[in-house]
Amino acid sequence: MTADCLFCRIVAGEVPAKPVLETDTVLAFHDINPQAPTHVLVIPKEHFPAAGDMDPATAGEVLRVAHLVAKAEGVAEDGYRLVFNTGRNGGQTVFHVHCHVLGGRQLNWPPG
Ligand code: AMP
Ligand code: ZN
Repeated sequence: MTADCLFCRIVAGEVPAKPVLETDTVLAFHDINPQAPTHVLVIPKEHFPAAGDMDPATAGEVLRVAHLVAKAEGVAEDGYRLVFNTGRNGGQTVFHVHCHVLGGRQLNWPPG
């Protein structure tokens, strides 16, 4: 637990979130400012700043749960996008790694 980290505080139950799925090591909850009809964040419960900091088992569990979230939200069949914003130029604002699961509409490419 990193005391000043917003997502560690969500894992600890100190900040409310709308959960979607939870496993032993990963938590998925709705983004507070959704950019698509489905917009869920999947995070490891352990604090890692960014995607490249995760060990392979954690990274694999985040991806596995992201697909379970897509199925649970009903967007797996039509398709969805997984995004790890990384660092300042990548648009990362919360430095506890999170996988955005976006779906429910046609997503533009390339992103702005
Ligand atoms: P990023 O810009 O990739 O770091 O994404 C951070 C995401 O966290 C943004 O999409 C925010 O809308 C989302 N966010 C910030 N605070 C909360 C919160 N308290 N609960 C849920 N999502 C949040
Ligand atoms: Zn954290």
